Amino acid sequence: MSSDSETATARRDAVRERHRETADEVLPEHTDLYVGGEFVAADAGETFDTIDPTTGEVLASVARGTEADVDDAVEAAWTAFDEEWSGVSAGRRQRVLTSIADAIEANVEDLARLESLDNGKPVSEAKIDVRGAAEQFRFFAGIVRENPGETMNAGSRYGQVIKEPYGVVGQVIPWNFPLLMASWKLAPALAAGNCTVLKPAEQTPLSALRLVELVDDVVPDGVVNVVPGYGEEAGAAVTGHPDVRKVAFTGSTAVGKQVMKSAADTVTDVTLELGGKSPVVVFPDVHPKKAVALVKAAIFYNTGECCEAGSRLFVHEDVADDVLEGLVAAIDDMTIGDPLDEETDLGPKVSREQVDRTLEFLETAKEDGGEFLAGGGQPDDETLADGCFVEPTLIEGLDHDSEAVQEEIFGPVLDVFRWDDYDEMMALANDVEYGLAGGVITDDITKANTTARDIEAGYIWINSYHDLVPGLPFGGYKQSGIGRELSAETLEHYQQTKTINLSLR
Ligand code: NAD
Repeated sequence: MSSDSETATARRDAVRERHRETADEVLPEHTDLYVGGEFVAADAGETFDTIDPTTGEVLASVARGTEADVDDAVEAAWTAFDEEWSGVSAGRRQRVLTSIADAIEANVEDLARLESLDNGKPVSEAKIDVRGAAEQFRFFAGIVRENPGETMNAGSRYGQVIKEPYGVVGQVIPWNFPLLMASWKLAPALAAGNCTVLKPAEQTPLSALRLVELVDDVVPDGVVNVVPGYGEEAGAAVTGHPDVRKVAFTGSTAVGKQVMKSAADTVTDVTLELGGKSPVVVFPDVHPKKAVALVKAAIFYNTGECCEAGSRLFVHEDVADDVLEGLVAAIDDMTIGDPLDEETDLGPKVSREQVDRTLEFLETAKEDGGEFLAGGGQPDDETLADGCFVEPTLIEGLDHDSEAVQEEIFGPVLDVFRWDDYDEMMALANDVEYGLAGGVITDDITKANTTARDIEAGYIWINSYHDLVPGLPFGGYKQSGIGRELSAETLEHYQQTKTINLSLR
């Protein structure tokens, strides 16, 4: 063995050791289902493994929920709703939400390390997720009392319009922001007065389980139930359950369509937060350095595993060379490696399956004539050989119809297009089935606003990217979804309207 190989082997051993030690410190004590306030084994007694994508080692065996477990969880949720939660005041709900936020904030470091182990995301980014999760609970705690309904005097009638919770809601979330997505779902559902059955992604079930351990004593039994398991088993059982009155799903567009179809059988209300293939438009007035920093963050944050990732760059011809040169240099400077290191910029992808999926798209891009300005495969670095790493990749020269441009790759891969005619550029920017987000980089306020309006998407950043502020609704146009999160509108998605018309005659 060469000395280089020996060093690489020693480094890999050290990373494995560090991950095992960290797992001992931060993993949840319980990896069973959480139903009716108790941790219980799955009905069939089965488990599945969740894998550390940095080392390839098993982190934990987790209860594999199936239809029977979802039935139990839905029943426990209805019991909690009927016997307690439907009667609690907005003030009590506010206190519960605030206590959940406090519990998360008291555990930022450990929750971030747990998220980093299970998902592979850099711990510096995981901390942002954890703080964002606490912020969700604080935001909905803040607006929970501002929901009094309306009254109307109408001649011989007196009308009341009140908002009522659905009762029991079913929530299914993806693996890219496990704790954050759990908070986006739980906070508004509880604030609106519902009880819930949450199904975390099978790749990353641990932070949701740790969260319910942390808040077990502040959330009444059965108000929150967590059923880990596979999508086709536990997920489909939640979204198709006849006693679930509202379904909230975040995940891929393909599965979102199935969820919507199954909800049709029971005419259940559905909100969907789905995939994206968002454009970022760079105008020529902007300093290339500024554009590089924003474009880099737009695509490579969270290893490109962001629904809103700015994965198609439209850069004006006049600054294209400088911006692309700057991007290649910025990619060279990125630290790829152990996500538990504070300095790491890019961790592994969540799973081997996701690596293979990304590599297939890179193959397609090669076949379609793409020119790789950076990356294009897995890093040629023995120290990273255990992990699910993919190089940050820049591809130019693809036809906009290529699958690698049209489909969501969900990895650190940016497709680049140069433009000089605004209308032609905008026609391409909107020529995808998605419409989740977009970015505009220019100091010209008129162009910025015109472009923001022209992009067919639900959320546009001007001179920033990814910063999501509670209060500003987030959600998709076109096949990126139905409904909005992060806002007062979200609370309404978890409520139904009742009109009471009282005759005064
Ligand atoms: P996915 O659709 O494969 O899985 C999402 C969740 O659905 C998982 O919990 C999975 O177990 C479950 N699931 C799978 N099949 C199911 C079925 N038949 N019935 C019910 N549930 C089922 O997506 P993913 O790969 O976990 O996540 C990545 C996707 O999520 C990307 O497309 C990304 O854009 C999207 N996403 C969107 C947002 C948003 O806010 N718009 C946020 C995060 C992620």
